[in-house]
Amino acid sequence: MSIFSPLSPPQRLLMGPGPTNTHPRILRAMAADMLGQFDPEMTDYMNQTMELYRRLFETKNQWTFLIDGSARAGIEAALTSLLEEGDKILILNNGRFGLLLIEIAERLNATIQAIDLPWGEIASLEQIEAAMLSFRPKVFACVHGDTSTTMLQPLEGIGAICQRLNIISYVDATATLGGMPICTDKWGIDIISAGLQKSMSGPPGSAPMTISERAAHYIASRSHTEKGIANATDHQGTRSRIRSNYFDLAMIMSYWSEQRLNHHTEATSMLYAAREAALILLEEGLEHVYRRHKLASSALRAGLKAMGLKLFGQEEHTMDNVTGIIIPEAVDDQTVRTAMRNLFEIEIGAAFGPLKGKIWRIGTMGYNAQKHKILHTLLALEAVLRHATSFSPSEGKALKAALQVYEKGVPQ
Ligand SMILES: *Cc1c(COP(=O)(O)O)cnc(C)c1O
Repeated sequence: MSIFSPLSPPQRLLMGPGPTNTHPRILRAMAADMLGQFDPEMTDYMNQTMELYRRLFETKNQWTFLIDGSARAGIEAALTSLLEEGDKILILNNGRFGLLLIEIAERLNATIQAIDLPWGEIASLEQIEAAMLSFRPKVFACVHGDTSTTMLQPLEGIGAICQRLNIISYVDATATLGGMPICTDKWGIDIISAGLQKSMSGPPGSAPMTISERAAHYIASRSHTEKGIANATDHQGTRSRIRSNYFDLAMIMSYWSEQRLNHHTEATSMLYAAREAALILLEEGLEHVYRRHKLASSALRAGLKAMGLKLFGQEEHTMDNVTGIIIPEAVDDQTVRTAMRNLFEIEIGAAFGPLKGKIWRIGTMGYNAQKHKILHTLLALEAVLRHATSFSPSEGKALKAALQVYEKGVPQ
């Protein structure tokens, strides 16, 4: 007799802001057996993964690899490896994940200045440049698509300003990689990190990252290899040691190089997952992938509006893979989400901070950015609103409006 029954989670449709349902090919890849860490097949898979993610991040950066851990492992590795005590960092703070950047920088005893904006707003290039000119930070950090607000921060031009002012730039693109274009080289951003559980259709637990030559050179100046694995010939940096061993990018990069420093044991199943996730998207073709997301979110938004609901945020700056919906007056947030789950096995997202109880967030991410899943979600929401709340959605209009978007397509 066993203590608990065998694992058998319900088959929910995860239409929140992540995690999303995992692509079946990725689940199969994760069922493959382990390999030794320095097995040639294993290191080949690591090299292939680097190559695949260079294409996703649209970069020539040699240093394009995985950090083991959920998306914030990538964020923490980047900031920990960049910031020495007292270093100046400028952070764009307009949502939950901007606040996370501040929190991590605080733990590192950095000197922080924030560009504070209300949740739902984005910063102009002029605003960012002015703050850089007055504060003169060593590092600038911001979020590309913040799922907490559903807004997309435009990144064009930021890299060029940072290079001119000798600032290292970091961007959290967790929520956008695989759903919207990430043009690392064109934007000139130094470090970008992401996650698997949003538009990459994978499970949480791996953080793809790309690092420019310039940033890699700086990180090497903080390289202090762990004693038990160091060789006499290892390069040792002149700057202070990175304060985390696990997130020491200098050592992680040696591990992902021909040097194959024995830092951590690569999370083999997550490597398989990340490799398969990237392969699936590249086989589909990135342009098609991005169009599929645009179409899914446009159809969802058209359906929601046709039902009589109002959307959150500036329309021209919303992400293509998550939509904020203003919860109508006298409608209870939790009642609706619970009914969606209990009656229809569909999860939609609540919100945080100033938006808690004010908006729902519906994701159209990765494997779930498909027509039938959008229609299921719209019709379930219409039914729940009608039967469990005092809000009366216009009957049957959502389906029609969403289908119309799919028939007409979206401008490219
Ligand atoms: C979802 C999300 C994360 C998630 O981080 P985890 O550590 O994987 O939970 C980070 N940043 C952004 C912008 C996100 O949308």
